[in-house]
Amino acid sequence: MKTIGMIGGMSWESSLEYYRIVNEAVRERLGGFHSAKCVLYSVDFEEIERFQHQGDWAAATDVLVDAAQRVERAGAELLLICTNTMHLMAESVAESVDIPLLHIVDVTAEDILTRGQNTVGLLGTQFTMEQDFYKGRLLDKHGIDVLVPEEEERKAIHGILYNELCLGEIRKSSQDVFRRIIEGLQERGAEGIILGCTEIPLLVDQADYDLPLFDTTALHARAAVAQALI
Ligand code: GLU
Repeated sequence: MKTIGMIGGMSWESSLEYYRIVNEAVRERLGGFHSAKCVLYSVDFEEIERFQHQGDWAAATDVLVDAAQRVERAGAELLLICTNTMHLMAESVAESVDIPLLHIVDVTAEDILTRGQNTVGLLGTQFTMEQDFYKGRLLDKHGIDVLVPEEEERKAIHGILYNELCLGEIRKSSQDVFRRIIEGLQERGAEGIILGCTEIPLLVDQADYDLPLFDTTALHARAAVAQALI
């Protein structure tokens, strides 16, 4: 079994999920007392959040590159950036280490295509929904068309992510906001919805929806286990 390296803490609420899922997935595959060999380096999210909202992506990249190198030195054999948003600097992070980076967009795209879908809605931070690093990779590399919510809705989602979910708060009123937005995307033609922020699965449950929700946290963590067990 290879050692999975994780850059986490963005937020730690979702890193907990990664840790749980990689261990559950290894137990499912190998049984007994088996658990995941892994290294988690968890950043201070206060600093990252400040750089993001100041638009200082160079400083945020420095933190992630340093984290990736620490994870590699600690013995990891493959690397996950445990957040969608911070794939904005995935290329720089990948170039800074010798171990392979498992890109969250690629594992998500694989699941979308396996289900025969071509048009999906994307929910995430405003950085993820509005900049090109995520939608562009889905379209250019995987041929998947992406619909994003309207501007007011994107702001509402962003607020819920940073002011509630990244602080561990789950509110019924926010579940209702997500429901309305998801239904709107479905009416516009989305066949499925990417939960493109690693905290959204804490709020939104597949059991409440009749269209597929692509849980990037679970897909990413499970893909890492599949890689680790090759
Ligand atoms: N975990 C979130 C994501 O998947 C947002 C936190 C961050 O900015 O990294 O995008």
